[in-house]
Formats: sequence, structure tokens, C-alpha cells
Amino acid sequence: MLEIAEERINILFILADKEFKEHPERSNRYVKLARNIATKYNIKMPKIWKHRFCKNCYSFLKPGYNCRVRLSKSCVVISCLECGIKMRIPYIKEKKMRRREKVELYTIKKRANEASSYSNDN
Ligand SMILES: [Zn+2]
Repeated sequence: MLEIAEERINILFILADKEFKEHPERSNRYVKLARNIATKYNIKMPKIWKHRFCKNCYSFLKPGYNCRVRLSKSCVVISCLECGIKMRIPYIKEKKMRRREKVELYTIKKRANEASSYSNDN
């Protein structure tokens, strides 16, 4: 049931993104519907969509159209051009994650190299 709800949220946001240029008011309706589903089933907004709507006026946000994305010291600042509010999202966590991913990738590559050098010896 929860998976279906999440799936529906994803679909709504994809539609919102698609419709935004021609029917921005529809996009805002899709956001509203997605929020309704999320609150009804008490699930979190999927990460990729979490910052695609305004926390104040709930407009669907499309960078370069109705919102501005700027980097400050350790935050991504998203300004909603509909109501003027600024949302700060710290990105230190993501930086750390990326580093961990790099390390993992490095070890995988290293292992692969070791494996291939073994087979070369034989
Ligand atoms: Zn707003």
C-alpha cells in the first residue's frame, strides 16, 4: 500500500514537471495531491522531489523558471520566486556520502585489478 502511495507521488511530480511550462497551475495542483497522499499515508516525500516545491506556498518549483538555486558556504539556498521565501538545505551530509561512494568505488576497482593481475600470473 505504501509503495503504491509513493509510486503515485512520483507520478504526480513527473506530471507536474511536464505540465509546468504550459500549465503551472496544474503543477501546483499535482503538488497538492502528492502532499495529500504523503500526509494520508504518513510517508516522507521522496528525496528527489522534496525540494521541488515551496515549503511556504507549496508551488511546484522549477529551477530557472520560478526558483533560484544558489550555493552558499555549506548550504544550497533555494529561493521561491512565487512568494520570496528562501529555503536552506545543508549539503555536508551529501558531500560525505559522495566521498564514501568514491572510496567504495576505489576498493572495487582495486579488487578488480588484483583479480586481473592474479589471472595474468596464471
Ligand atoms: Zn513559495
